[in-house]
Amino acid sequence: MKLYHWIFIGMIAGILTGFVLQIAYGPGMTRAWLPQAILSVMDIIGKIFIRLLQMIIIPLVVSSIIVGTAGLGNIRHLGRLGGRILMYYIGTTAIAVTIGLLLVNTFQPGKYVPEELRDKLRSEVQETQQPLNVKPPSITDVITGIVPKNPFKDAVEGKLLSLIFFSILFGIGITLIDSKKGELMFQFFDGITDVCIQIVHMIMLMAPIGVWALLGSVVAKTGFGILKSLLWFSILFLVGLLIQWFGVYSASLRFLSKEKPLPFFSKISEALVVAFSTSSSSATLPVSLQVAQEDLEIPEKIAGFVLPLGATINMDGTALYQGVVTVFLAQLFGIPLHIGDQITIILTATLASIGAAGVPSAGLITLIIVLKSIGFSQAVISLGIGLILGVDRILDMCRTVVNVSGDLVATRYIYEVDKKSVTSRQTIEEASL
Ligand code: ASP
Repeated sequence: MKLYHWIFIGMIAGILTGFVLQIAYGPGMTRAWLPQAILSVMDIIGKIFIRLLQMIIIPLVVSSIIVGTAGLGNIRHLGRLGGRILMYYIGTTAIAVTIGLLLVNTFQPGKYVPEELRDKLRSEVQETQQPLNVKPPSITDVITGIVPKNPFKDAVEGKLLSLIFFSILFGIGITLIDSKKGELMFQFFDGITDVCIQIVHMIMLMAPIGVWALLGSVVAKTGFGILKSLLWFSILFLVGLLIQWFGVYSASLRFLSKEKPLPFFSKISEALVVAFSTSSSSATLPVSLQVAQEDLEIPEKIAGFVLPLGATINMDGTALYQGVVTVFLAQLFGIPLHIGDQITIILTATLASIGAAGVPSAGLITLIIVLKSIGFSQAVISLGIGLILGVDRILDMCRTVVNVSGDLVATRYIYEVDKKSVTSRQTIEEASL
């Protein structure tokens, strides 16, 4: 059996273990020592697995972006590809929010929340002056934060976007210096990338048990039963994710990349299972890089450049979630939304998903930016976030799968663009000879 078969077995075993613990000991599990001991073991294994993946992110991102940028060689080509990547990322994200908005406005899940809960929430809004104790980053912070004051400090703090900015400049610098020294630097970082990928291989040997532990502990602690309280909202959101996945991504693969969608998704399944169990695009990044290079056979210069950027700024699942939650809360609290508000939601959810870090629940924090942009009061925001907090972890696992798929589909598209532009450059050169 191959490793990914074991990882799937780990996933199913994790979900089953979680269910058995829930059924045998109930949701609290406070008094029985056996489930507590199993949960502790799962916590330790799960945390170690995530830490191992996180351990490799910074060296891998820095070296692969440097190699990717320097490998593309020519600044004009880099600029053109960069423009395409940003357009593609922003375009697919805006489509994702629009899908979410169409679904939530058509099917109105806010109306299916039990009446007592709706009345209770609405009367609580009148009474509460609950201050928000989480502060989302402002748009200005997100934009200025792209330029690092000190790249080493940002590396220590794990701030990927500013590190990507620095690494791109570094890669460009390599192409501009004396070619002998440039070649040496390129080989050096290329070597680091290869070593990091080997380390990812070693870490992935632990994936079956890591995935078992992470999923077992989530299901045992929260259980899928929690989805019942917000059933329509959750189903609608999952349908939106499926439309983005099977509709938008399949169309992109088929028409833009001339690739069959199903074999493509099966090749990237290892990265998807890791995304599902860690709920983190950043922690999945090392696996995505390995899958892109080895299973999709995308050259390092493309994967190394496109994927780290995607894991940080391209979050279609998160943007879709933010759109659906915003309109759902408006329906729940009886706040009318006009067409202008819906357009504001598309714009701010796209920006807020760019600003969200690739870590669990990050999208829930930047959701506040969207809720504030259409004028929700503090009380509505606190109560609304409190309400969806219970289901957030499970929905986060699903949206992270879409976020990671979106990055890999984009990488495949940019590979196609690069191949075409290289062929057309060669034709021009041959013609001029
Ligand atoms: N967990 C998501 C990710 O890492 C971000 C989010 O939506 O919370 O991609």
